[in-house]
Amino acid sequence: MGVNRGATVEEAVLYSRRRRRHRMGLLNDIEAELNIIAEKLRPEKKDVSLWRGRCRSSLHLRHGGCCVMPKVPAVGPERIDTTCALCKSAPETRNHLFFMCAYSSQIWEHIARGILCGSYTNVWSEIVSIIGDETMERKRLFCVRYAFQAVLYAVWRERNKIIHGDKLLPLTTLKRMIDKGIRNKITLMRNHGVKGMGELMQFWFLTRV
Ligand SMILES: [Zn+2]
Repeated sequence: MGVNRGATVEEAVLYSRRRRRHRMGLLNDIEAELNIIAEKLRPEKKDVSLWRGRCRSSLHLRHGGCCVMPKVPAVGPERIDTTCALCKSAPETRNHLFFMCAYSSQIWEHIARGILCGSYTNVWSEIVSIIGDETMERKRLFCVRYAFQAVLYAVWRERNKIIHGDKLLPLTTLKRMIDKGIRNKITLMRNHGVKGMGELMQFWFLTRV
């Protein structure tokens, strides 16, 4: 498929391949899936901006800053049962899901407490205000923005899995996956020559308390 054996999905999607037609149906299915992911990852795609202004970091945050912010999902009326699918004990509102919920709050806390230390919060409006704080130390700001994006995405995915009848991932597994995803992202940027990524990785490890 023209994909490097050691490539991550992101690398396969964004950097190293051109779409082809295959004789094997399965490979065409994989092409279609990669295309869907590529659409989601494309940086020029319009995202919902949660903070004003542009990312002006000395770390050259081309792929990890505000530009890759995922669309904040609308917690919509498409479901008749609006109880939170994750904890099943509260109405599913945006603030509940991100991150007042007993399930999602544990994930957010695991990923974000070491970054935010004394200003740690699981209240949506406060988090949004923190990630818009351009006066924060760049490394910390990068980490909290990326953590927010990663946890948001993971929680939303778990929520959708439950709605489609799948099982929740155990908390420890999900925490590990998110942490690994963030480290992979930093490594990827470093391999693409983005400045400051080695230092950022060290900082990330320091925040793992
Ligand atoms: Zn909940």
